[in-house]
Amino acid sequence: MSKAVDSFMAELIAKNPAEPQFHQAVREVAESVMPIVETTPAFRQAKILERMVEPERVIMFRVPWVDDKGQVQVNKGFRVQLNSAIGPYKGGLRFHSTVTLGVLKFLGFEQTFKNALTGLPMGGGKGGSDFDVRGKSDLEVMRFCQAFMTELFRHIGPDTDVPAGDLGVGGREIGYLFGMYKKLRNEFTGVLTGKGLDWGGSLVRTEATGYGTTYFAEEMFNLKGDSLKGKTCIVSGAGNVALYTVEKVTQLGGKVVAICDYDGTVHDPAGIDAEKLAFTKDLVFNRRGSLKEYVAKYKAGWIEKSQPWSIPADVAFPCAAENTLNGDDAKTLLKNGVKAVVEGANMPSTPEAIEAFLAAKILFAPGKASNAGGVATSGLEMAQNAMHLAWTREEVDMRLHQIMKNIHKTCVDVGREGEWVNYQVGANRAGFLKVANSMIAQGVV
Ligand code: GLU
Repeated sequence: MSKAVDSFMAELIAKNPAEPQFHQAVREVAESVMPIVETTPAFRQAKILERMVEPERVIMFRVPWVDDKGQVQVNKGFRVQLNSAIGPYKGGLRFHSTVTLGVLKFLGFEQTFKNALTGLPMGGGKGGSDFDVRGKSDLEVMRFCQAFMTELFRHIGPDTDVPAGDLGVGGREIGYLFGMYKKLRNEFTGVLTGKGLDWGGSLVRTEATGYGTTYFAEEMFNLKGDSLKGKTCIVSGAGNVALYTVEKVTQLGGKVVAICDYDGTVHDPAGIDAEKLAFTKDLVFNRRGSLKEYVAKYKAGWIEKSQPWSIPADVAFPCAAENTLNGDDAKTLLKNGVKAVVEGANMPSTPEAIEAFLAAKILFAPGKASNAGGVATSGLEMAQNAMHLAWTREEVDMRLHQIMKNIHKTCVDVGREGEWVNYQVGANRAGFLKVANSMIAQGVV
């Protein structure tokens, strides 16, 4: 490991204590880009890395609301506006008990590079709250979203900062947030993405992250003269990203044999086909139930309180949350002959896991490249809103597919190491160069 990275990280950790996920995300990028920074006087002189790790603005606020029992509840609200060098701040809102400033700084940092890779004009941001939607009634979720927006509205706008969903924030929450924004501002604009199809949303946005992740995986195999067809796949998570990954993998001829939620892993060796997936979508998105119901209905296997990494597979798609695939899981996957690990979530693999994948020279796609389809389609939603029109499903899907192909090509061009492609280095360097050059062009601001 380079001395320059170590001393850069020591300073970052001293200045930003108790933010381990942020340190992890920065270190991963710093290791890839330090050789460029060290050999480019303009980057060193402009203190480009030091500036990139300091958010342009952090907004923290109180979110008081009243629960169904008439009790006052107080949550924390955040919006981290990381970088606007290439466009308005763009990135999701996460509502989950694990949300802290450090978590949102890591997500905003990742988002900045991811958004740059899409080729669309979007800066990086992230926000959210330590509010947990699980176990809350619909009315409680609405009151919380309205309270959250009564502060957030003054900091965002269609050309300033455009939030979207992330963990705990789906179509329902975006609806309540949008309704309150519209009321407060008295304007109907594309200030949020992931909106409903009847009121400014884009076709394919819901499916986009999972579809995009699968398109990326297909590109990786295609480059080697192979494809997802006939591959056994395991997917972690059972949310939006996971279930639309299952859908697209199945459409492309792969077989998904596992998904998981907070309770445990479903192991279905026969594969999760279209009918089983329709049941699961209704279970998760409408009834908000547990995957245990899948096991009862389809007589599948169940691994209590566990993720799918012990199940032999050709391809693993971590689509849950950060740091949910560790070094031991990586060893198990490699021992079982995994050919590719394609991240649908943000930073799901720990540094030890990534090290193991890179050492084994398997296909490894970092989330900032492979899960960029979600935010890319948010960018397409912004474009449609700005033009006051709506594209067809075919048009949006075609653009999403092309964007994923472009990101893949960029990673290959920048990350090729002989016969093998280091997608992590490719994604980090390509995203970094675009943002760094834009910052330099705009002066010291
Ligand atoms: N939360 C998603 C991500 O991590 C989507 C963000 C967006 O659409 O703005 O990229």
